[in-house]
Amino acid sequence: MSTTAAAQSSSTGSARLPRWEHHIAGKETAPADGRYFASDNPTTGEAWYEAARGTAADVDRAVAAARSAFESPHWRRMSQTARGALLRRVGELVGENADRLARMESTDNGKLLREMTAQLASLPEYFHYYAGLADKIHGETIPASNVDVLNYTSREPVGVVGAITPWNSPLTLTVAKLAPLLAAGNTAVVKPSEHTSASMLALAPLFEEAGFPPGVVNVVTGMGDEAGARLVDHPDVAKLSFTGSTATGAWIAERAGRRLIRAGLELGGKSPQLVFGDADVASAANGVIAGIFAAAGQTCIAGSRVFAHRSVYDELVERVVGRARTIRIGDPLAPETELGPLAMRAQLAKVEDYVAAGRAEGGQVAHGGRRPKVGLGGWFHEPTVFTDLPNDARLCREEIFGPVVAIMPFDADAEALQLANDTAYGLAAGVWTTDLSRAHRAAGALDAGTIWVNMYRAMSPMSPRSGFKASGLGVEHGSEVIREYTRLKSVWINTSDEPAGDPFVLRS
Ligand code: NAD
Repeated sequence: MSTTAAAQSSSTGSARLPRWEHHIAGKETAPADGRYFASDNPTTGEAWYEAARGTAADVDRAVAAARSAFESPHWRRMSQTARGALLRRVGELVGENADRLARMESTDNGKLLREMTAQLASLPEYFHYYAGLADKIHGETIPASNVDVLNYTSREPVGVVGAITPWNSPLTLTVAKLAPLLAAGNTAVVKPSEHTSASMLALAPLFEEAGFPPGVVNVVTGMGDEAGARLVDHPDVAKLSFTGSTATGAWIAERAGRRLIRAGLELGGKSPQLVFGDADVASAANGVIAGIFAAAGQTCIAGSRVFAHRSVYDELVERVVGRARTIRIGDPLAPETELGPLAMRAQLAKVEDYVAAGRAEGGQVAHGGRRPKVGLGGWFHEPTVFTDLPNDARLCREEIFGPVVAIMPFDADAEALQLANDTAYGLAAGVWTTDLSRAHRAAGALDAGTIWVNMYRAMSPMSPRSGFKASGLGVEHGSEVIREYTRLKSVWINTSDEPAGDPFVLRS
């Protein structure tokens, strides 16, 4: 944040808010046209800082900085071992700053400080994992059916990567892109969500402090259809890496297709949880609650459709509703709070719209369905449990991104799997059973990129994440992602001592 910033008045002229600038070529950079936008604290509903409202001119400057850093020998000719050492160092710096960054994220998106602290505390693992991979990126030698040829491949960085990220886990989702793309030798321009710009701007200078050359990591803040769209279309951006809604992802894929560049997409979900008749129902109920009420349902992997075998259906509903009734709603910074606000006013309106649609389609609200009285001024919604809805109700088909779950009964395993897979999405699924064979059968049959058995919501930088169907394209996390950030070159060397012959004369 600019040191003079706090003294500057807001563009609205009313409040005096702290101000954040873009981070370009290692420097705080004011927006070319001098405009800023306010970011709200969802707990109070009030603006708490301003960030630069990036335009095409700002994105062009950031991409030029990233391009120049990519071509500079300081970065281009840096050894892979040295790149790994920088990643390890920035991971340490992130660890030292974790509490500050977590508080910032919790204030900006309303997620529990407890959760953001845990996320930020594990963020160094991403850097350390990809630091370890940095010097293991290499090609191979290939026989190529010819003894007089040496054929080898090499993996090269692709160039400038445009990384566009959402507001629900801002730094974790961004670092999942930055750590591997830097390990592979690329440079980046990040466009964080306009709802959570601050933590990325606070993270950015740590890269230069760790020793990364200026320009390797740049941040332009602003709106999706302004700064974001220019980044997508910029001719010097060689690859896009996007996490966000399916609608935006589809638009980005189309634009990337016109330029024939790659776009990695991590998109939305409507993930099912299956509770079989032999499940430990108390444990399954906890998994259902964690899957939908953690982060107030604002996670891509929210388990928003639950299918319970008829023999355990009533008990499961009772347990989930019983716990939902006691969930403490309030200030996400307070240690006793279990459910914070939705991240923005529009998100609350969207949740209310789906609750109304669920009621209109004949659903019964077993708990919740209203705004609670919290008295803080922000955008809170009760944890909400629907029953008596069919799987083809709007509430069961579209991503809500809020604390709303529909619980539906089933009679046979095949029916449960068919209902679970009957969705446009394919991000994740949960299976609750004590029968090992049933667990494996379900894991094999479910059409989703991540399957959890007798657990939910676990993640590791080491384990790949990919969305099937409308949930995405490509992979994040794990070693596979290095392929997404490199291009493969095949080199042929003639090792014979014969001169090249006339191509039209067949050799005997
Ligand atoms: P969003 O699509 O509205 O915005 C995501 C980002 O895209 C923001 O930075 C936004 O400014 C930018 N953007 C919007 N329009 C753009 C355009 N035309 N060109 C370029 N950039 C543009 O999504 P959101 O509301 O911020 O995030 C919630 C969504 O993200 C949910 O659908 C959720 O499921 C998804 N998500 C997916 C994952 C995953 O790993 N699959 C993780 C977290 C969130």
